[in-house]
Amino acid sequence: MSLRINVPPNDEHNVELVSNVHPPEWVNPEPASRYNLVVIGAGTAGLVTAAGAAILGAKVALIERHLMGGDCLNTGCVPSKAVIHSSRVWAEMRQARTLGALAPPGTEADFAAVMERMRGIRARISYHDSAKQLSDFGADVFFGDARFSGPDRVEVARATLRFKKAVIATGARPAVPAIEGLGESGYLTNETVFNLTERPNRLAVIGGGPLGCEMAQAFCRLGSRVTIIEANSQFLTREDPDAAAILAGALERDGIDIRLNTTVTRVAKSQREKRLNLETGGKTDVIAVDEILVGVGRTPNVEGLNLEVAGVTYDENGVTVNDFLQTTNRRIYAAGDVCLRYKFTHTADAAARIVIQDALFLGRKKFSASVIPWCTYTDPEIAHVGMYERDSEKRGIKVNTFVIPLGEVDRAITDGQEEGFLKIHVREGTDKILGATIVARHAGEMIIEITTAIVGEIGLKQIAGIIHPYPTQSEAIKRAADEYNRTRLTPFLKGVLSAWLSWTR
Ligand SMILES: Cc1cc2nc3c(=O)[nH]c(=O)nc-3n(C[C@H](O)[C@H](O)[C@H](O)COP(=O)(O)OP(=O)(O)OC[C@H]3O[C@@H](n4cnc5c(N)ncnc54)[C@H](O)[C@@H]3O)c2cc1C
Repeated sequence: MSLRINVPPNDEHNVELVSNVHPPEWVNPEPASRYNLVVIGAGTAGLVTAAGAAILGAKVALIERHLMGGDCLNTGCVPSKAVIHSSRVWAEMRQARTLGALAPPGTEADFAAVMERMRGIRARISYHDSAKQLSDFGADVFFGDARFSGPDRVEVARATLRFKKAVIATGARPAVPAIEGLGESGYLTNETVFNLTERPNRLAVIGGGPLGCEMAQAFCRLGSRVTIIEANSQFLTREDPDAAAILAGALERDGIDIRLNTTVTRVAKSQREKRLNLETGGKTDVIAVDEILVGVGRTPNVEGLNLEVAGVTYDENGVTVNDFLQTTNRRIYAAGDVCLRYKFTHTADAAARIVIQDALFLGRKKFSASVIPWCTYTDPEIAHVGMYERDSEKRGIKVNTFVIPLGEVDRAITDGQEEGFLKIHVREGTDKILGATIVARHAGEMIIEITTAIVGEIGLKQIAGIIHPYPTQSEAIKRAADEYNRTRLTPFLKGVLSAWLSWTR
């Protein structure tokens, strides 16, 4: 069987991408009589499960209906971060004067080149997720739509794969809001926005979550006039409100037209443009744009899998799993966006590792034991791990909070990146870290130290003794630890220390 797939634009980069992640000449193998593990979906969750299990010697089948690498490689993390990086460079060039540098006159972003660079990067990375790589690891790779035909078997491209265990890793797709006229007018999602080769001059972004904020800022910095529309009163609704407020300020300074507490009530298309009717607290407005990008959440891919036949329960949040990531059919597991509340590549990866241990090696690893950090890659970035203040209040846990503004961190000052803060919560009267939020240019890198501390049960007292290279933005964490140490200096202790020092003078 030969399979052809086209990813626009049909340039050399996308031809290379497809040759790796859905090779046109691929012929599905003869199925084994029974597999230790059948994995449905070759996004992060499926790839990590299949590769890990095959490397450990299991007989594994991996099924993908579209592009191996899933969202992360093709339409999510990789393309978005490549475009964001280019947009940051452009933003810095425009502000070069503040750093004593002069951008050449007429400097302008080359949108087509930015997108081509992104496609080149995606193609280059795609080998790691390729059919060849997975086959080399020992997995049987099948292309086609997977569908259960019983509690222990899956059909794909007219072949039947029998399994001891299976994993549903079919991911999620963009949710589309029910707005009159949106479908008829046409819109972009993460599945199509990275196919653009021409910059939309005017762009409306519906949704102020991570995707909406990241893309709104990137497109604005690359020269689009962007309006971002969010129904709630803050961007990144889950995030610390102080962090979200800094982000709103940053987006506004970039020149984005911000519409919080606003809903789109209707969309209409004319020959020249798309018009969006907006409503903000009873007031109406109309904006005209060239393109609309929708980023209002994700819908789990459960349709067409015939889950009923396999005895697997699901609802609008995806496949139902227990803490061991087992579905209601105990021999079938799920991992990644199809079942998890936290839809990230690193959670899909973490879930896959748990599934390998629990499904194949009688493990009893629980997903709830995971410490999950995340980051939104705006400028500044917003990263978080553990509890928010509101969580501790809800759970009746008393905390002490240490806040270090980046304006007090030398490296942030030298780099002109003073906007932001580190906020770290410890259990009251102790140095045990319960959670942290970081707003900083490289918050995503900084949050790893705090995540490591939480996992390794390293308290602020110990962090204060860890030598941090000077000058780094991570010194903010050490500063918080020093502040904690100062709280331990009670008047009594201070008196004892002074007495000792004067005695030993
Ligand atoms: C724009 C954007 C930016 C993002 N940025 C980040 C980021 O910076 N960091 C981060 O951690 N996360 C990010 N994410 C989230 C991340 O991409 C996802 O959480 C991750 O890709 C989920 O992996 P998955 O394996 O669960 O699903 P997916 O990657 O969606 O893979 C599922 C695969 O299953 C296949 N499939 C579905 N149904 C079937 C079927 N019936 N038969 C066969 N195959 C099937 C699909 O074709 C797909 O390839 C981003 C997401 C988006 C949209």
